[in-house]
Amino acid sequence: MTTASLTLQEQHWKYLQEILVRTDGAERAAYVLCGLATIDADPWDGQPHHKFISYEAIPVPEEEIVSSSAEHITWKTDSLVHALKTAQAKDLTVAIFHSHPGGLEKFSAQDDANEPDLIELAQNRNGSDTKLLSVILTPLRKLVGRLWINQQEFISLQMIRVVGESIRLHYPNRGQGVSSPAFQRQALAFGEALNQDLSMLRVGVIGCGGTGSAIAMLLPKMAIRQIALFDKDIVEESNLNRLHGATLDDARAQRPKVEVIKRVLTELGLGIEVRTYQSWVGETECRQALKACDILFCCTDDHTGRLMLNRFAYYYATPIFDMGLAVEISHKETAEIKALDGRITVLVPAPGHACLLCREVINPVIARDETLKRSNPTEYERQKAEAYVIGEGNPSPAVVLFTTEVAIMAMEELVHRLQGFRGEDGMAAHRVRKFHLTTDRKPAAIYNLNCPVCGNTGAEWWGRGDVIPFLNVVG
Ligand SMILES: [Zn+2]
Ligand SMILES: [Zn+2]
Repeated sequence: MTTASLTLQEQHWKYLQEILVRTDGAERAAYVLCGLATIDADPWDGQPHHKFISYEAIPVPEEEIVSSSAEHITWKTDSLVHALKTAQAKDLTVAIFHSHPGGLEKFSAQDDANEPDLIELAQNRNGSDTKLLSVILTPLRKLVGRLWINQQEFISLQMIRVVGESIRLHYPNRGQGVSSPAFQRQALAFGEALNQDLSMLRVGVIGCGGTGSAIAMLLPKMAIRQIALFDKDIVEESNLNRLHGATLDDARAQRPKVEVIKRVLTELGLGIEVRTYQSWVGETECRQALKACDILFCCTDDHTGRLMLNRFAYYYATPIFDMGLAVEISHKETAEIKALDGRITVLVPAPGHACLLCREVINPVIARDETLKRSNPTEYERQKAEAYVIGEGNPSPAVVLFTTEVAIMAMEELVHRLQGFRGEDGMAAHRVRKFHLTTDRKPAAIYNLNCPVCGNTGAEWWGRGDVIPFLNVVG
């Protein structure tokens, strides 16, 4: 059975609340044009999934409202026709939002009676495969939605995510669950709802080295159950100082990192469902799984993969927690620490969240060299010999203390965004921990207004989801 969900950019969510929640206590309505991520088979439940993403919010003009009370709203459909026209031109789907100030937490009998006419209108105008979303907002700021397929058929949305500075999840029976004994002590700290939220999330870990393996070990302990692991490498003996869960036997048997971590997580017996992708994250075969994830942790050293994920976060409004570690030792007479920095950067289409290019985390020159190495190794070696490419130097220092701490910083940021334990100003889009100085720094974003990802030109694409070519990058 096909399933459906919706991701709302926080900026749209704020605007919708302004439009839909009025002091007169009467219903209001708005449209949201949505991009779409199509998933042929969800990695966990195997079902086809339509994941809609908000692209633009448009109010229903006051003058179109024919009548409105706490229990109903009627408006002329001129603006809907206009929204459908724009949606068709940009290959988007229209969502109709309306408020239920009277408190009804489900669709009313009147909604059930009216909405088939609206999907009929949409399909008559834009074609028979046109879909229509309908979402209600309750006084407790809960969201409930459904996707109309045709006049007879709709799919209830399994989840609505609001993503930005915070992450809020809306799904049926949220907050009514009781944690299993394994997670009750965590519920005592953060409440039952956080455990339930975490258990609903689909989480991907990209790169399963020191930091990625630490993240992976933490996920089930936090009550996250649906996990995807992406890494093409096998365990080597030189990894064993920091690769959580890996044994000397794994290195000798040359086992893939993703399989070793899957084994360890599965053995916990907590009902964890791990899906593994033993390939480079940029490969086409990883796309469906990436699109299916609600949250991604990026723990790779690879600049080309990061370059792709940097766009992915904004096109699909999928929060990415990107981590890095810089250890630089000068080899003078006495070795001196020049840098011992752990970094976590959150990528999400939201103000204050500059991308990895603007923050100079990604080096485009190295990314270019990596691409050359992958596509034409002979040419890469030739250029390396002639010093045209940077090439890989000596292995960089790596210490389990710091790789693990960076993983913990990222997990804490996720928990804060879901639950808010650090209070109003607790979020950090970019945090650098200076391990040798015992201080944290939060450098402000330096935006390039023309950045094709996070700048004004990039914002045209936030929430667009699937486009051809993928992420607008010609391969
Ligand atoms: Zn209603
Ligand atoms: Zn940028």
